[in-house]
Amino acid sequence: PFSTIGSSVIPILNKLQDIFLPLSSGFPKIHLPQVAVVGSQSSGKSSVLEALVGRDFLPRGCDICTRRPLVLQLENRPSKSDEDDRREWGEFRHLPGKRFYDFNDIRREIQAETEREAGINKGLSDKQIRLKISSPNVLHITLVDLPGITKVPVGDQPSDIEARIRTIIMSYIKQETCIILAVSPANSGLTNSDALDMARNADPAGLRTIGVITKLDIMDRGTNACNFLLGKVVPLRLGYVGVVNRSQEDINKNRSIAEALSFEKHFFRDHSVYHGLADHCGIPQLAKKLNQILEQHIRMILPGLKAELNCQLVAAAKELQAYGDAMESKAEREKLVLKILTEYCEAFTKMIDGKSEEFSIK
Ligand code: GDP
Ligand code: MG
Repeated sequence: PFSTIGSSVIPILNKLQDIFLPLSSGFPKIHLPQVAVVGSQSSGKSSVLEALVGRDFLPRGCDICTRRPLVLQLENRPSKSDEDDRREWGEFRHLPGKRFYDFNDIRREIQAETEREAGINKGLSDKQIRLKISSPNVLHITLVDLPGITKVPVGDQPSDIEARIRTIIMSYIKQETCIILAVSPANSGLTNSDALDMARNADPAGLRTIGVITKLDIMDRGTNACNFLLGKVVPLRLGYVGVVNRSQEDINKNRSIAEALSFEKHFFRDHSVYHGLADHCGIPQLAKKLNQILEQHIRMILPGLKAELNCQLVAAAKELQAYGDAMESKAEREKLVLKILTEYCEAFTKMIDGKSEEFSIK
């Protein structure tokens, strides 16, 4: 199943949604920021997204694979006890009503739909492919896989290909609510990374950019990325995480995500230069960083949710006055519910402030 991102945020969000959903139909859904990848072509962007999601379904490879923006909406569907309900499926915007249960079919459809719009000869299009994944194990979050920056036009690509790709990328990462994963491969000049360059243009203060260094396994022998990971070369407020994803050979041999994660773990264990940098190494660490950012986001939107609850409390009190004693018991009940909810919010705030390990409601 989907695993890595949201492992710590899912229970919190589910609790909040349990509280808010039955309360009132007009209550706002809790939206999380979207996460987009940027970097040069074949830097490992799709590989990073896939590893974070924990399922195989994105086209990846040494050639240009991602040729249209893919907007991946993860949708949390509450889990019921029966087996069928635990299933995860994908549905494309361009094929409404058709559920894909096999994730290999999802990849094939992404490829086919890419070709329908962008042709078969390396062409690109800014027209989105929208895919919704429904599962009890995901957050309400949107991930965006983007084409990588290329400099030299090939196939059907126009002569201004680089500028066109930059425009597409920019339209996503300039949004204030977008968390940018700036992906740079460790085996090609980290100091002039396209990813960091673009991320800096979109987010000059570096408030929402995480640096991701891929391909640590194929760096030139005798070199390592320690100084980079520590932010000594290009400082970044939210810092860097180095990862090892599947190589082209692993893809050709159909190695699974589980195998890849285990390989990565061994890689960092066997390379003593990275021993002191555990906080900066590995997909699980990147997921943890994202979780922390998402928790912070929830903390930020909580006051708004509380204010909304208060409004409802006032409205309920007014209704009580308007109807007089006859409605008392219903209004009393509503008041009680709101009181419980407010306590929930406070307990939740305490929990994410680290003052308490668990939700505890008096
Ligand atoms: P994208 O174009 O940025 O989306 O890159 P992809 O995810 O499609 O990966 C491009 C190629 O790099 C593929 O052949 C991957 O197998 C390979 N690759 C990605 N990450 C790593 C890594 O950490 N180590 C190794 N050895 N290869 C990787
Ligand atoms: Mg890609």
